[in-house]
Amino acid sequence: MNFTLSEEQKTIQRTIREFAQKELVPKAAEIDRTAQIPEGIVEKMAGMGLFGMTVPPPLGGSGAGAVSLLVAVEEVAAACASSTMLIIPQIMVEQGLLAFGTEAQKRYITSLAKGEKLCTLSLTEPVAGSDIAALQCKATPKGDQYVLNGTKSFACNAGEADLNLVLVRTSEKPGASGLSFIIVEKGVPGLSFGEPLEKLGVRGIPSKEMIFKDCAVPRDNLLGKEGMGLVQLFAIAGLGGLSAGTISVGIARTAFQKAVEYAKERSAFDKKLREFEATQFAVADMAISIDAARLLLYRAAKSIEDGRPNPVEVFMAKTLAGEMAVEVADRALQIFGGYGYTREFEVERHYRDARAFTLYPLTAEVYRLLLGRTLLDLGLPWKGTPPIGPPSRPGTKRY
Ligand SMILES: Cc1cc2nc3c(=O)[nH]c(=O)nc-3n(C[C@H](O)[C@H](O)[C@H](O)COP(=O)(O)OP(=O)(O)OC[C@H]3O[C@@H](n4cnc5c(N)ncnc54)[C@H](O)[C@@H]3O)c2cc1C
Repeated sequence: MNFTLSEEQKTIQRTIREFAQKELVPKAAEIDRTAQIPEGIVEKMAGMGLFGMTVPPPLGGSGAGAVSLLVAVEEVAAACASSTMLIIPQIMVEQGLLAFGTEAQKRYITSLAKGEKLCTLSLTEPVAGSDIAALQCKATPKGDQYVLNGTKSFACNAGEADLNLVLVRTSEKPGASGLSFIIVEKGVPGLSFGEPLEKLGVRGIPSKEMIFKDCAVPRDNLLGKEGMGLVQLFAIAGLGGLSAGTISVGIARTAFQKAVEYAKERSAFDKKLREFEATQFAVADMAISIDAARLLLYRAAKSIEDGRPNPVEVFMAKTLAGEMAVEVADRALQIFGGYGYTREFEVERHYRDARAFTLYPLTAEVYRLLLGRTLLDLGLPWKGTPPIGPPSRPGTKRY
């Protein structure tokens, strides 16, 4: 067991930290206020290799691995949570294409890894989010095409992305067994987008409805086999969940650091805030929980990197991290007193950003459900789940 980052990981940490502090920190408040990521940011993030860290070098990535990915994501999130949200769909879609894509579909990977193309991963619908088995958006086979009808909601980067990986119902089979992933490229007739949702936090990343009306795509755009959508989702959700959990760590770290600085400067009752035991206890608890979440995330990422992915580790880490950041940001805001509630100090933004990650990519309740059911040998909670998947995946360590 080794709790230190490798030299390569330390270099990634230092390089991405310098980049994020220089390029993203000065723009983060504006990104939040305008709900837009300014031109040039995607290109700069791409230049830092942030979109291809888990893609092998022959396909255009760095192959730096899962732990390095988390190291980098924390640095970006500590600077600007919205910008980090560009990375998550990219990682998951790349993993999906790598694991299940045809040779033709794999051609997308290089442009995704280089950030030349952006993507969405679109599951949620107005009628169903947590209950994936109840998704209704349909892709009806017709000749050599699928014809998509229905509405997706919330997809990050919808409308901007070049490529959409959409979970749809391709057969009348019940629940999750009728779901498949289909690739829908930008500009295809029959796909339109709603207005951006007005979100509480991570406001820079647009989330929109995707409306499919007789939207025809080639049958070749099916990812892998029909009916395997949920299984594929769980094969790629590990890295996605850990990356999202790490955004929580980055947000919490920054909120914590700002609270510590404020506690050293601000006085009350003729003392600095840091002299109060209440502040000392708050800071101690915040530090413990940030580190605990980070270590759980690293452990789960290392297992993935070593080829023995463990869903239990992922579910634990993501659940803890999401809730930890809400609590840490809340306590940081409290240390700032009334000023923490204003835009003068950015801790209110960290609080709003943190709140997204007990909901995304799945809610804290659903992660807990997955964890509890796995520990109790109950399998996934969705109706009609195909037989492959956690907890019976080969190489899965059991508790
Ligand atoms: C910032 C942000 C970005 C997002 N980006 C994307 C994206 O890129 N792509 C995408 O597809 N979706 C995205 N989503 C949507 C997100 O995945 C869903 O909001 C989430 O899965 C919950 O679905 P829902 O909102 O329909 O809530 P519901 O499923 O209606 O749940 C409502 C409440 O009931 C609880 N609940 C539901 N079922 C159970 C149960 N069995 N046991 C206990 N509690 C339960 C939930 O935890 C929640 O508290 C995003 C959401 C946010 C906030």
